[in-house]
Amino acid sequence: MEEWKKQVRDSITTPQKVADILSISCEEISKVHNEFPLRITPYYLNLIEEKDDPIWKQAIPDIQELYGSGFDDPLHEEHDSPVKGITHRYPDRVLFYVSPFCAMYCRFCTRKRKVSDPQSVKETDLLNGISYIKRHTEIRDVIVSGGDPFLLQDETIDFILGQLRAIPHIEIIRIGTRTPVTLPHRITPSLCTILKKYHPLFINTHFNHPKDITPESKEACRMLADSGIPLGNQSVLLKGVNDDPVVMKVLLHKLLQIRVRPYYIYQADLVTGTEHFRTTVQKGLEIIQNLRGHTSGLAVPHYVIDAPNGGGKIALIPNPVVEHNDDEIVLRNYEKNLYRYPSSTCLQESNCSMAFADSE
Ligand SMILES: *Cc1c(COP(=O)(O)O)cnc(C)c1O
Ligand code: SF4
Repeated sequence: MEEWKKQVRDSITTPQKVADILSISCEEISKVHNEFPLRITPYYLNLIEEKDDPIWKQAIPDIQELYGSGFDDPLHEEHDSPVKGITHRYPDRVLFYVSPFCAMYCRFCTRKRKVSDPQSVKETDLLNGISYIKRHTEIRDVIVSGGDPFLLQDETIDFILGQLRAIPHIEIIRIGTRTPVTLPHRITPSLCTILKKYHPLFINTHFNHPKDITPESKEACRMLADSGIPLGNQSVLLKGVNDDPVVMKVLLHKLLQIRVRPYYIYQADLVTGTEHFRTTVQKGLEIIQNLRGHTSGLAVPHYVIDAPNGGGKIALIPNPVVEHNDDEIVLRNYEKNLYRYPSSTCLQESNCSMAFADSE
């Protein structure tokens, strides 16, 4: 049996097992598990070093999940769904939900409402989704998502990607998977052989903390990158895990070293059962402020809020515009110095003042 299948077979899925391993009480975990199921790979559980460390917080049910405010589907993914499994919000691209399973059920998951429910994807849903994409020639980009698409068998992945690649109007295919983090053994030579057939293919993964990066996850990323797949990362800003400019910068630098390009940092969505993870927007802005100009542009992701009720992603940056009028725009750089730049493309004496800078 392949190692990834053993990891899935041996995953911790009962409150009793997790309580025994961590020597904690089972009672609270059971209550949470009844509402939001628990699942952790032995590999990821092993990364825990102490109670409430960043690995623990991502993996272990917390009684706070049962309290606090939120919505089951704050992004209206079901509302913007023309056929089951497809979210068609932006005209030219769709989200295609192909798998209800994940290697781990992350405690902060935006799709808590449906991951782990086997009924949330049936074979007919896959076929209907593919047929919808075929009929809609305005779609040029498909994001294969879930759950986690890499929890499917190789043959199913091959089938889905083959069907999508055969559609002439599909320019690029993206896959969202957290397996490089929670089940890196899933990235096998045979999976890579399949993926390579479907370029241009992009993968976005989901590292949240420097501790998520291990020799195993590094090897998984190497195999994917060596298969010619550009890798991106989408982190969620999580209180007590990565809501710290220093921790975040270390994570982003380490990602580049394993050939993963930071893509998004998401503000935590307003999901039921995740309030204890939410941070202020100010915190996200502070993190970006500490990055832009202070490190490689390649290390700086977009900080986005996915607008409630399906408004889509909105990128936020600390506002660099101090003043903007017909003559000039006054900008603040990363060192907080001010620079004037002409509003007009034509340099006249009156607005040709860009040569000097004022300090704040
Ligand atoms: C995030 C998302 C996308 C992809 O957005 P990009 O900014 O292109 O990465 C597409 N559809 C839905 C519904 C999404 O939530
Ligand atoms: S891997 Fe992604 S979809 Fe699955 S539980 Fe974690 S955050 Fe949710």
